[in-house]
Amino acid sequence: MIVTLDPEAPKSAVDAVVAQAERYQGVTTKLYEFVGAGATVREVHLIGSTRAVPVEPFEAIPGVRAVSRVSVKYRLIGRHGKDAQTHAFDHNGVTFGGEKVQIIAGLCAVDTREHVDQMLAALAREGLQATRMGAYKPRTSPYDFQGLGGACLPWVFELCGKHGIKVVAMEVTDARHIEEIDRALQDAGRPTGVMLQIGTRNTQAFELLKAVGQQQQFPVLFKRGMGITLEESLNACEYVASEGNGRIIFCLRGVKTHLGDPHRNLVDFAHVPVVRRQTRLPVCIDPSHSVGRLDAAPDGLTDVFHVIGQGLITGATAVLVDFHPRPQAALCDGPQALTLDQLPRLIRYAEVVQRAYREARAIGEIAG
Ligand code: PEP
Ligand code: MN
Repeated sequence: MIVTLDPEAPKSAVDAVVAQAERYQGVTTKLYEFVGAGATVREVHLIGSTRAVPVEPFEAIPGVRAVSRVSVKYRLIGRHGKDAQTHAFDHNGVTFGGEKVQIIAGLCAVDTREHVDQMLAALAREGLQATRMGAYKPRTSPYDFQGLGGACLPWVFELCGKHGIKVVAMEVTDARHIEEIDRALQDAGRPTGVMLQIGTRNTQAFELLKAVGQQQQFPVLFKRGMGITLEESLNACEYVASEGNGRIIFCLRGVKTHLGDPHRNLVDFAHVPVVRRQTRLPVCIDPSHSVGRLDAAPDGLTDVFHVIGQGLITGATAVLVDFHPRPQAALCDGPQALTLDQLPRLIRYAEVVQRAYREARAIGEIAG
């Protein structure tokens, strides 16, 4: 059972809920706080045998907004009850999961200072505040470029500061990387913020998930597993929240099967509304790793653009997308990288689809 408090409810309301819960044998409580974009949501979770516990005494406590019985698996990330809000959150002044779609464009893998500088300058020109920059690259072959690792962090962060980039999505493949990133940010004077990315190859690396969940400083961009069910991915994502970090974006990136040919993966953006229904997490789409190439349809728009449209028209609020100033020189995933001249076009395209989504949403019966 979950007891949700009004954002302005005093601490005494929490105490009253806990005291009420303690009257039932075999029931323990845990308080969760979700620091959202607008307000902090507090929930008291009743854990144990709650079937015989009535909801009315909790509903009667002043400051309690809702009491929901939780029968589904995703206790923390799940959307329980109709009035549950999407967990939008702010990070370093950028809102994720709100009305404004965040385009997180950047290099799949950091290679040279010049390319990072060019990339970030292009984002700044378009008024974007978030980027992706891979320093630790999990590659299929041990002989492929593995990323520059911690060595590039000082100048990547410095350049983010120079161009006013507020959030960098950066994959971590080992818990030690969290510490390394924090130290580099500290040494650079915290010119930007970082969002820790869990890659599809690590969706079920449970110790890594616990490590990103145990810290609160960095939010998490969580990729679905490419070879497991959506349910398994959502359960894995719940690990992050269950360790205490509720600032999570769930990212769809396609699933591995040759049935998606000629795309690199079978694009799974039909799951955007499913994830939105089953969870309270903001949903991101990654058109680059799902499509994996840049062929265009007869209308002149690439498949990458088209699948961005498919994700945004169903309510995704973030797009993680590969760009490179010189894709032919990229050390990782060049064939799927858009060039910098495509950026204004992508922004325009995303705005058109968002407008269409707002209109489409009005056809539904519930706003939001
Ligand atoms: C990435 O975004 O750099 C990446 C490796 O993606 P994925 O984990 O989805 O393959
Ligand atoms: Mn990549």
